[in-house]
Amino acid sequence: MTQSNQSSVWHPFTQHAIFPDFLEIDRAEGVYLYTSEGQRIIDAISSWWVITHGHCHPRLQQAARDQIERLDQVIFAGYTHEPAERTANALVDLTADGLDYVFFSDSGSTAVEVGLKMALGYWHHQGIARDRVIVLEHSYHGDTIGTMSVGERGVFNKPYNPLLFSVDAIPFPAESNEQVTLDALESRCREKADVAAFIVEPLVLGAGGMLMYSPKVLREMKLICERYEVLFIADEVMTAWGRTGTLFACSQADIVPDIACYSKGITGGFLPLAVTMCATRIFDAHYSPDRSKTFFHSSSYTANPIACAVAAANLEMWQEDAALDAVRKTASMQGEKIARIATLDSVTNVRQTGTIVAMDIQVPDRGYLSEIGTQLYLKFQKSGILLRPLGNTIYVLPPYCMSEEDFDRVYDVIAETISDLTRTQFS
Ligand SMILES: *Cc1c(COP(=O)(O)O)cnc(C)c1O
Repeated sequence: MTQSNQSSVWHPFTQHAIFPDFLEIDRAEGVYLYTSEGQRIIDAISSWWVITHGHCHPRLQQAARDQIERLDQVIFAGYTHEPAERTANALVDLTADGLDYVFFSDSGSTAVEVGLKMALGYWHHQGIARDRVIVLEHSYHGDTIGTMSVGERGVFNKPYNPLLFSVDAIPFPAESNEQVTLDALESRCREKADVAAFIVEPLVLGAGGMLMYSPKVLREMKLICERYEVLFIADEVMTAWGRTGTLFACSQADIVPDIACYSKGITGGFLPLAVTMCATRIFDAHYSPDRSKTFFHSSSYTANPIACAVAAANLEMWQEDAALDAVRKTASMQGEKIARIATLDSVTNVRQTGTIVAMDIQVPDRGYLSEIGTQLYLKFQKSGILLRPLGNTIYVLPPYCMSEEDFDRVYDVIAETISDLTRTQFS
C-alpha cells in the first residue's frame, strides 16, 4: 500500500494504512493552524501538549531571531553560554527550593532517561545496591527503550518487550481506591531495600488516558518514598507550565521531588528542549576527582543556544502575572464549558485538573485502539478542530489564549459529534 500523496515521510504514532492523507499546515497563530489550502483549524490539544501561550508568540519569535544572529550551536561539554545560564537560573528561581542543578537535553524522553540514570548513578557511586524502579500503572514516560520500560506495557511496545528492563508497577490511585496504591508502594519499599527510585506523572497521567488523581495522594506517595529513602522522580514533561492550574503540578501537593523532568512547554512549544533538575546531593554523588563518577550523558544538541534563548524568554513570561492569569482563565472557562457536555447520556467520567478536561465516551469497545477514537478524530478534523482522542477518551488541552468564542466552537463540535456518532452506533 502506498501513500496517496507519494510522500516518503513516515509519521509518528500513525497507521499509514488507515490514515493515508495528511493535512499540510502552512502557518499558525494563537490557537489557529492554517492549512496550505486555507482551512483554519482550532488547535485544541496545543499541538500535542507543547504550545502554552499560543502559536508563534511574538516574544518567543523575537528571542529566537536575536539569538540566531549571535550564536547557533556550541559544544556544551566544557563550554557554556549565556542563554543556558539564564535558563538555568530562571528554572532554579521558578521551581521549588531543593531543585538546584539543571541538566539539559532535547526531549521529554531524554529528560526521563537522564533522570533514571541520575538515580541509578546516585546509588551506584555511593556503593549502595539499589537498582529497582517503581512505577505507576498506566504511566507514559516516552518511547525510548528506557522510558518504555518504566511505562505501561501494551500494544505500543509489545514487539520491543524483550529489550525492556523489569520494574515494579503499583496500581493507579483511582478515586476511593487510593489506599491500595499507597499500601502497594509502602510494602514494596519495605520488602527489600533495593529500590532506587519511584517515577510518577504528578496529578495527571497524560498518554495513559488523562487519568487524574489528587494532590493528597501525590503527597502521601512522596512521604512514603522519603521514609524508605527512595528517590522521587517527577515526570512533569506534560503537567508543568500551568497545565494543571499551577506552574508545576508538584506544588499542589507541597512536595519537592528529588529529580524533576521538564520539556514540552519549556520553550512555549517553540523549539525542542528539555531539562532534568535535581537535588544537590545527587550532583554531589557524581562530584569526585574519580573520572568514573562523571555523569556520562550527552546529546549533540544539548542546550542549543537558540532553544535556550527561547526558553529563557518563555520563563521570563512565567515570572510575570499575566501568564498564570491566563491559566486561571483557561481553567475556569474549561469548567464552564464542560458542564454542558457532562449531561449527555453517552458521556461518563468527566474530569478536570486545571486547564485539562477529559471525558470518556461509553462504547462497547474501549481502550486506545477503540474504533470510536479514529471516527471522532476525523469528524473533529472535518469540523476544523484538532482533537486527538485517546481511544474512547476525548480531552481538551488548549493553549492559554483560547477565546470564549473558540471554546464554544470546540464544545459545540464535541457535543454534536458525540450525539451523531452514538446515534449511528447504537441505532
Ligand atoms: C510527552 C511525554 C514524554 C515524552 O516526551 P517527548 O518529548 O515526546 O520525548 C514523557 N513523559 C510525559 C509525561 C509525556 O507526556
